[in-house]
Amino acid sequence: MSDRNDPALEDLYREVILDHYRRPRHKHHVEDPTIANRGFNPVCGDQIEVSLRLADNRLVDLGVEGQGCSISQASASLMAERLAGCTLDEVDQVNAAFKRMMVGDGEIDEDLLGDLEALRGARKFPVRVKCATLAWNTLQEALALYAKRSA
Ligand code: ZN
Repeated sequence: MSDRNDPALEDLYREVILDHYRRPRHKHHVEDPTIANRGFNPVCGDQIEVSLRLADNRLVDLGVEGQGCSISQASASLMAERLAGCTLDEVDQVNAAFKRMMVGDGEIDEDLLGDLEALRGARKFPVRVKCATLAWNTLQEALALYAKRSA
């Protein structure tokens, strides 16, 4: 798909990002989490803490807390909203689709990504990509830690 340069769409994306930055979803620490992990983006100073509870290979509870720039915090909130309740397979699929969107002119899977498409503008700026992917990498690390621990 080609990049759309529709100013109304750009405004909509900006609105989605600001809304999630100002009113972050799933901003809590999961009590007695299956696993928790912290991520830090030294380039921008963004911090993220992910905590989650797994049951039957499903993210039954997902909390994301942090501080930093609007892109990093909006991405964390959008991620939590999208992934809470998902199976680990779905998490992998959405994560892969998000990463594809964020590299160069990678394809955008609108069905899988939904509102996450609002972050597409960040891919034009390598420094911003680090902000946008911080929460995702932190979650991925948490799940890798869990897989290792239960192996
Ligand atoms: Zn940032």
